[in-house]
Amino acid sequence: MIKLESLSKHFGTTVVLDGIDLTIDKGEIVVIIGPSGTGKSTLLRCINFLEQPTAGTMTVGDLTVDVKKASRAEILSMRRRTAFVFQNYALFANKTALQNIAERLLVVDKWPKEKAYRRAREILDQIGLGEKADAYPASMSGGQQQRVGIGRAMAAGAEVILFDEPTSSLDPEWVEEVLGLMKQLASERQTMMVVTHEMSFARDVADRVIFIDGGRIVEQGPPSEIFYNPQDPRTKDFLKKIL
Ligand code: ATP
Ligand code: MG
Repeated sequence: MIKLESLSKHFGTTVVLDGIDLTIDKGEIVVIIGPSGTGKSTLLRCINFLEQPTAGTMTVGDLTVDVKKASRAEILSMRRRTAFVFQNYALFANKTALQNIAERLLVVDKWPKEKAYRRAREILDQIGLGEKADAYPASMSGGQQQRVGIGRAMAAGAEVILFDEPTSSLDPEWVEEVLGLMKQLASERQTMMVVTHEMSFARDVADRVIFIDGGRIVEQGPPSEIFYNPQDPRTKDFLKKIL
């Protein structure tokens, strides 16, 4: 379970997140949509403490922190409960597929080496890249690299996986294999927050679609409501442009 209460983020005098209140159940698949520059990435980054939120309270699983007062130990604990999948994969170029997955387990989750590598191998098999264990990112397709990125996020059994436009950097031919892996995770009821422009994924997979504009949640509901019966003029306007 994830709960955000009055979560805000300011960059200098710019208010990027303006008091976000949001509860996501365990196993829920949430897709976040909204115009460019409205704070979607910032929201995910704040949950993972890649950005320090300005104010508010955040709960992930059984840990609640007041973001202003969060200790170093609490921030690390939040990072362990969350996992991030980046648009540009963000793999270590000088590490193999196996090492890239093991790295998160070793560094963030503090697993012993042998256990981390055993788990990384299991994950590679699960994501269909068992043969690529010793391959470096440069020798893999974009789709394979992003599957490793997702594998890294899956490995530690994080409470929630945060996906920030995971298919936006991919050549069209690789998009489906990455969405396929995400659908597999969704069918296993891995809690997911996904920022994406892939509206067919949102329609088929999301339990809830959240439309964000100006750092606020404008409207949310099941995909059938948001896509076919949006209420707010800003949602209607946005959907007109992308659907
Ligand atoms: P996109 O759809 O283009 O990815 P987004 O909804 O993900 O947009 P964010 O990346 O969260 O938007 O950015 C929201 C706002 O915060 C933008 O105005 C951006 O310029 C600003 N911003 C983001 N990161 C920083 C930063 N490190 N310093 C200053 N401003 C920032
Ligand atoms: Mg973004």
